Amino acid sequence: MLENTPLILAIDDSQLVLTQLEFLIANQTPCNFIGFDCGFKALSSQKLHKASLILLDMNMPSIDGVEMLRKLSELDVRQPLALLSGENSLFLKNAASLASLHGLNIISCIEKPLSVSKLADLYKKLYQFNETPPSQKKGVTYSNEEVVSALYKNEYLAYLQPKVCSKTEKIIGVETLARWNHPENGIVSPFYFIETLENENHTAELTEQLLKQTVNLWSINRTLLSGLPFSFNISANELSDINLPEKLEHICSDASIPTSQITLELTESNIINNIRSSLDVLLRFKLKGFKLSIDDFGTGYSSMKQLNELPFDELKIDRCFVNGCADDTSKKAIVVSTCEMAHKLGLDIVAEGVEKLEDLLLLKSLGVKAIQGFYYFKPCSQTEFLQLFQHQKVVSCSSSL
Ligand code: C2E
Ligand code: CA
Ligand code: CA
Repeated sequence: MLENTPLILAIDDSQLVLTQLEFLIANQTPCNFIGFDCGFKALSSQKLHKASLILLDMNMPSIDGVEMLRKLSELDVRQPLALLSGENSLFLKNAASLASLHGLNIISCIEKPLSVSKLADLYKKLYQFNETPPSQKKGVTYSNEEVVSALYKNEYLAYLQPKVCSKTEKIIGVETLARWNHPENGIVSPFYFIETLENENHTAELTEQLLKQTVNLWSINRTLLSGLPFSFNISANELSDINLPEKLEHICSDASIPTSQITLELTESNIINNIRSSLDVLLRFKLKGFKLSIDDFGTGYSSMKQLNELPFDELKIDRCFVNGCADDTSKKAIVVSTCEMAHKLGLDIVAEGVEKLEDLLLLKSLGVKAIQGFYYFKPCSQTEFLQLFQHQKVVSCSSSL
């Protein structure tokens, strides 16, 4: 067993699933993996409280997942937990609610069959969990009403994460990321509210509020920020609103900010799942001058053909491939071939999740210009951003979210 390496525990009665999990997890990150084919064995293991992540199958013959949730709660297990099941997503959603009621730190639900992209998504959530201050963990969830009403109380803030040029080390753009300025819990990560806003169909309001905050900042600090591009995240459901391009265009023109300065980031799966209606809205964004970026590239299922047919300007390599790419042959192969493809298709590349110098050097050698990641900056408040941009100091800002 490797010292100081995260320990992942998986509980599933199928040896095949355990083997598959071990393989898929090893693909994400180096770790020590222990598989239990029976819940009782896991419950009596001393490793239970030492795990960095526990994966639990809900359908097991000896002790089922529902009973396991109760037992884990009785044992005061606080480790991040992901549920697996071959049942439908509603079952998993209900099981997750039960886990939260038990005070467990449920971070994800995964429908079988397993896949690389599902595990990549799990790692994204695990990272977000680990980045969350302890006060917000231990089963803290927010009700749909709380999350939605925060919109009307203007509690969501535009945080900014700079992108840095790998050659000059100057800031060449920013990504706007949502944070909830919660009256009691302080700054809350999007992990706790984006999914709810998406399910409740309210992300368009969030986008509008954050865009207004950002263009306002650019407009007030016109001399300092003029010409600096910024990006936004757009959720899948927003693409069904055919008036969205006009709405966002008006917000920009009211503040006299050219739309060409703004990039909209969309994930592959967002678009591919509903390609016809998405393409309609995407093309109209293009006509209005916005730029389009494929976010989390590599975690979805888009084919080369589909990518070639979509009007994108930029590709963001997902951080699950970027982080550690210099030392991991499979990650490196993915990053190298993604860069080759992007260059051939004439797409700009952004590498997201750059934390280490060796990864940065590899990306630089592959011709990647735009670097986003903790190596340079974490997302920060608007005030912090103005300070660091004025000084162009390439040092991490104090914010931990
Ligand atoms: P994303 O679009 O992939 O955003 C990048 C995420 O990677 C951010 O997490 C950022 O803090 C994190 N990150 C950047 N550099 C590094 C690094 O070097 N290492 C690591 N480990 N992480 C890094 P964040 O802010 O927690 O956002 C999570 C996700 O929430 C975003 O992923 C995006 O999908 C969603 N999101 C955030 N703001 C909005 C929003 O305004 N609207 C919508 N629809 N989604 C949003
Ligand atoms: Ca993004
Ligand atoms: Ca991303």
